[in-house]
Amino acid sequence: MRSAATHHCTTYALPAAWTDGVSHTPGSGGTAGSRRRSTIPPGRLVGDGLPVPCLDGEQRPYLNLDTAASTNALPAVPERVREFLPWYSSVHRGAGYKSQQATAAYEQARAAALRFAGRRPDGDDVAVICRNTTDAINHLAYRLRLQPEDVVVTTVVEHHANLLPWARVCRRRFVECGPDGTFDLQAVGDALRGRPRPRLFAVTAASNVSGWLPPINDLIATAHEHGVPVLVDAAQLAAHRALPPAADYLAWSGHKMYAPFGAGILIGPRATFAAGEPFLVGGGAVDLVDLDEVVWTHPPEREEAGSPNVIGAVALHAAIDQLELTGWPAIAAHDDRLARQLRGGLARIDNVRLLGPEPDVDTLPLAAFTIDGVPHALVAARLSAEHGIGVRHGCFCAHPYLVRLLGLTTAEIAAHRRAVRAGDRRNVPGAVRASAGINTPAEDIDRFLEAVSAIAGGQPSTVAYWQDSCTGDYWPQRDNKLERKAA
Ligand code: PMP
Repeated sequence: MRSAATHHCTTYALPAAWTDGVSHTPGSGGTAGSRRRSTIPPGRLVGDGLPVPCLDGEQRPYLNLDTAASTNALPAVPERVREFLPWYSSVHRGAGYKSQQATAAYEQARAAALRFAGRRPDGDDVAVICRNTTDAINHLAYRLRLQPEDVVVTTVVEHHANLLPWARVCRRRFVECGPDGTFDLQAVGDALRGRPRPRLFAVTAASNVSGWLPPINDLIATAHEHGVPVLVDAAQLAAHRALPPAADYLAWSGHKMYAPFGAGILIGPRATFAAGEPFLVGGGAVDLVDLDEVVWTHPPEREEAGSPNVIGAVALHAAIDQLELTGWPAIAAHDDRLARQLRGGLARIDNVRLLGPEPDVDTLPLAAFTIDGVPHALVAARLSAEHGIGVRHGCFCAHPYLVRLLGLTTAEIAAHRRAVRAGDRRNVPGAVRASAGINTPAEDIDRFLEAVSAIAGGQPSTVAYWQDSCTGDYWPQRDNKLERKAA
C-alpha cells in the first residue's frame, strides 16, 4: 500500500453548557486550592452507601475499597452524559446539526485531556482517545516501530499493561526494586546508560500494588539527560495527582478516574503518529482509499479508526472538569491523610504484613497486605460476606512485582507455576489490596481496619467457606454463585 497524508483542520463550537465544565454539578468538594482541613472527603460518587446483604442478615452500606481497579462515577459525569445523550450522533462523519454537536463535544474532550496532561490543545502533542491504559500502551508499542533488537527500559514494579506490550515488540531491560518495592534514581540511571541505548523508558507514576509514587519528575529528567523519551503509565496517578507535564507519552484510563464509560487517553508528540500506518486501520483514519492505495489522514484522527466512543469522551471530560474544580491540593491532602491512616493502621495490627514502603512514605491511599495463616482469597471473601467491604485479592496484574514484595523463592514460584498450569489455583500466592478514593471518609478506613483486626485476631466466622480450586476464590458455605445471581 502506498501511503501519504493531506492536511485537515476543523473548528468546532459547543453550547456553553457543555464547555464551561463546572456548572453541571456543584459536587461536595472544595474549590481549586481549597484550604479546608476537615476530614470530609472532597467528593462523592454515584452509588455511595448502597446497602448490601451480609452473612448475619444485616444490610451494611457497601464500602468500596477497590478504587484502584475501577471507580464509580462522580455525579457530574452521568449528569453530563445525560445532557449530551439527546445530542448524540456520529462523530466526524455526519453533516447534520447533531453530528456537528457530537463532533464538537468529542473534540472538546480531547482538548480537555491535553490540558489535563499539562499540554496546550494547539501544541505539538496530540491526545488519542482510546479505550484504556492497556489499549494506549499497546497502541504506542506498535506506533514506535521498534525493532526486535531495540531495548525499552522498564521496571519490575510495572503492571502487566506496561510489560507485555514491550515484550512483544522488542527487548526489555529492567530496573530492579528493593524488598520495600521501591527503586532509586541511581538504578534508573544505570539502566538508561546500558548499551544498546534504550529507545524508551516506560515507567509507572504510581504502583497499583504498593501505592508507591516513584519520583516521576526526577525520573523523567534523568531519562531526558540520557536522551531517552519517557512513557508514563498514569493509570493510577490520574485520579490522585497532576500528571507529569514533562512526560513524552502518557497513558491513562477514564474508568479509574471516575468516568467509567470506556474511554482512555494516549498522549504523545504529533510526530510519533505522523508517519507510517496507524495501529488500527479502517474508516476515519484516512483521507482517501483506492483498492491499491491509502492516504492516511493527520493525527490524532489517523489513530482513531472506526466510530469513536463519544459518550466515553464526554464522560472523561466531565470527570476532568470535576477533578480540576475540586483541585489537586484538596485531593492530595485527603489522599495523604487516608494513606497514613490505612497503611499505619494495617502495620499496627498483629499478624498483618504490609507490603511495600513503610507507612510514612508518600503513597496513594492504597495498601496491599497479607494476614499470617489466612489465605488472601479468604480474607477478601470474609471482608465481603461478613462486613460488606469490597477489596481485591491476588496478584493485581503485576506478578513480577508481587513475587518480589512477597519475597518468594525461585522454588516456590516454580511450584505455583506448576499448580496453575494444572488448573489448581488454591494456593496461588497473593495479597489483599484496599484502595480508597475521593469519596472515602476516615470512618470507612476505621471500619475496614476493625474488620481486618477481627480476622487477623482469629475471630471465627459464623459459617464455613468453601474454595473453588479453579479460581482460588472462597464462598460462604450457604452461598453459591447461582444464589448470588438470583439475589
Ligand atoms: N497500569 C496500572 C498501574 C494499572 O493499575 C492498571 C489497571 N489496574 C493498568 C495499567 C491497566 O489499566 P486498564 O485496565 O484500564 O487498561
